Amino acid sequence: MTRVYNFSPGPAALPEAVLQQARDEMLDWQGAGMSVMEMSHRGKAFMSIAAQAEADLRELMGIPQNYKVLFLQGGASTQFAMVPLNLMSRTGKADYIKTGSWGKKAIAEGKRYGEVNVAADTGADGPFTSVPAQADLALTEDASYVHYTPNETIEGVEFPYVPHTSGVPLVADMSSTILSRPVDVTRFGIIYAGAQKNIGPAGLTIAIVRDDLIGNALEQTPAMLDYQIHAYADSMYNTPPTFGWYLAGLVFQWLKGQGVLAGMAEINERKAKTLYGAIDKSDFYANPVDPGCRSWMNVPFTLADAELDNVFLKQAEDAGLHTLKGHRSVGGMRASIYNAMPEAGVQALVDFMAEFERTHG
Ligand SMILES: *Cc1c(COP(=O)(O)O)cnc(C)c1O
Repeated sequence: MTRVYNFSPGPAALPEAVLQQARDEMLDWQGAGMSVMEMSHRGKAFMSIAAQAEADLRELMGIPQNYKVLFLQGGASTQFAMVPLNLMSRTGKADYIKTGSWGKKAIAEGKRYGEVNVAADTGADGPFTSVPAQADLALTEDASYVHYTPNETIEGVEFPYVPHTSGVPLVADMSSTILSRPVDVTRFGIIYAGAQKNIGPAGLTIAIVRDDLIGNALEQTPAMLDYQIHAYADSMYNTPPTFGWYLAGLVFQWLKGQGVLAGMAEINERKAKTLYGAIDKSDFYANPVDPGCRSWMNVPFTLADAELDNVFLKQAEDAGLHTLKGHRSVGGMRASIYNAMPEAGVQALVDFMAEFERTHG
């Protein structure tokens, strides 16, 4: 068996120890005589798996008791609709900060349910390569909420700060940055994330929702998109994504084994510095993002000669460095280096890049 270094943006690499444990427990989960996939979600075994995963996530992120943790389906893309459906009723208006492709999609969906004010748009005059300063946010006092994307996965643009919103609930699409470092959950009304980047397998979506934001859904809201219905049912209104929930739980255990999230943050910062350092010190590689808001998780870069892109990708793959192709809208390369990417993987990438530059630069 050969495992490669997988730089995929999502679904992304999982910690090897987690996959091994899932393999060992696959046919018989802790003496239950069956796989987690085959268990009733209402049985004692799965209920314990579910409760442990939630408790571990609460501990890792320091989630206060006045927040519900929901284990949902539909991906972050469903949250683009679920957020306005549940929150827009307050004033019928919402502020959105636009710093990349995912924020753009959230805005398009938000507009279906109310009036959207774009409080900042860093892509109005070209590609998204920066975030607005707090002072440049045109926030409105009577917004129902403020939505932003702390890390734009495609462009590799990350907020170095949490916006202040003067008491208006802040909603964050943390799909590609959740658990990469500590956050102060109390600054947020809602945090949501599709699992397939930094949590677990595709098919699970986590929403962390402050209590007071639950129970105000617009009248037309389908039951499956109402936070209240999922909150009352402890995310078991219908059959939840049981295997994804279980695997996320194993990832939380793995993270706890690494120590606190501050430790993970140190490793992530070091990985990012190594890669950006290699890009910046060369004239052959370039990253277009404002150095003050470069993503720790998704690192896009271009070669001096785009004609060499395919050669680079092919040779990288031969060297065991997979899925480095950039998003079609940005071009070039992108290395996603989430929690599960070991430092040795980043080192292997920068070594390969130096050698490629020596032979092709
Ligand atoms: C991947 C991603 C999405 C889309 O997630 P799905 O789970 O595929 O719907 C949305 N927002 C961000 C920031 C992402 O990285």
